Amino acid sequence: MNTPMFYSMPDLPFDYNSLEPHMSEEQLRIHHTKYHQAYVNTSNAILEKIDKARKDGTDLDMKSTLKDLSFNIGGHILHSLFWNSLAPEGKGGDISEGLIGTQIIREFGSHGRFKEEFTKAAMSTEGSGWAALALCPETERLMIMQIEKHNTNIYPQFRILLVLDVFEHAYYLDYKNDRAKYIENFWSIVNWNKVNERLEKALM
Ligand code: MN
Repeated sequence: MNTPMFYSMPDLPFDYNSLEPHMSEEQLRIHHTKYHQAYVNTSNAILEKIDKARKDGTDLDMKSTLKDLSFNIGGHILHSLFWNSLAPEGKGGDISEGLIGTQIIREFGSHGRFKEEFTKAAMSTEGSGWAALALCPETERLMIMQIEKHNTNIYPQFRILLVLDVFEHAYYLDYKNDRAKYIENFWSIVNWNKVNERLEKALM
């Protein structure tokens, strides 16, 4: 197999208009084709710059290069996970199905309590960032991560199962400044089947 040396854009696993009314076609199209694309393009441009400097034997500003690269690759990976955390309403299964349903109860006590904690994490993310549900590989406990930007507060090696983008660019066209409403509607378009699949794979 020929492994690509650069990042590429994943197609969405659904049509641009299929998350309406919770996420509009315009909002989703701009988010995917402009914002996510920019993280892919910038990641690749930085990699090309690194390749060129190595070839030419010139200096790299390691600090700023690595900081930019971490932000942009993080953006690409989290957006890819985000699209695969979503499904048209009624098509993504239910939180109470499968292993994920029982593991959430085991960790949080109830599905309601999990949603409450996740929502609070998403609401209180400072600046731009994400809320994520992840699995700790050592304790096999589910944990909520509050990721700032694309790369701060991340636990190394944890497996991310579900992410919610709370950058303003994810919701401003549909919800203006109403992040709470955006998060509330997010629960209608979660792809629990996929989240469950990721959990089962992580525990194998
Ligand atoms: Mn985004």
